[in-house]
Amino acid sequence: ELSPLSAEQIDFEKGGGLVPAIVQHGLTGEVLMLGYMNAQALAATQEKGLVTFWSRSKNRLWTKGETSGDVLRLAGLAVDCDRDAILVQALPEGPTCHIGTRSCFGDYPGPALAFLSELSAIVDRRADSSPEESYTARLLAKGINKVAQKVGEEGVETALAGVSEDNSALTGEAADLIFHLIVLLKARGLSLIDVAEELKRRHAKA
Ligand code: AMP
Ligand code: ZN
Ligand code: ZN
Ligand code: ZN
Repeated sequence: ELSPLSAEQIDFEKGGGLVPAIVQHGLTGEVLMLGYMNAQALAATQEKGLVTFWSRSKNRLWTKGETSGDVLRLAGLAVDCDRDAILVQALPEGPTCHIGTRSCFGDYPGPALAFLSELSAIVDRRADSSPEESYTARLLAKGINKVAQKVGEEGVETALAGVSEDNSALTGEAADLIFHLIVLLKARGLSLIDVAEELKRRHAKA
């Protein structure tokens, strides 16, 4: 379902055969890295489904992760207005930067909404930690009924704050609700991404 991007759709001439390729996280929108592609790199990226650049230092095609295993799985491609830059959407299988950070731009403050995805990942990790050291692990250990009950309670508290309390109380209760909702979804093998996909589907229908 990925629409292919052919070399003819891109103005490689302007940059002497190379165009900058901005890599963005396919789910959170975070900027992961910048590389360069020639026509060969673009073709290899689509054939393998793994982001492949023309490395100006190695002077050859370079599939990100070819030695480290930290590949970037292709999720989408777009060209800019004057066809001299490529936007690559990808799902990283490890840190994108060889320094070990998620992004080559370091642990820069990502888009605020991307933190919801990061929080989901934190909940995933806490789910595997011991109940002594994690509230999330303790909550999950009590079983799904307890988690569902917490979502119900925080939902009621959020509603009450919405009609009778100040904005900071409402923000706090909404945060409690979203956190516990993430834990409930996790307990059922789901995540906020599944919820976002459903909202997108509904919007597409409307
Ligand atoms: P990798 O492609 O992850 O197997 O890494 C191979 C080599 O490419 C590393 O030793 C680095 O020299 C270089 N490298 C890896 N990731 C990056 C990156 N995000 N930006 C620039 N160079 C990288
Ligand atoms: Zn441009
Ligand atoms: Zn880097
Ligand atoms: Zn609360």
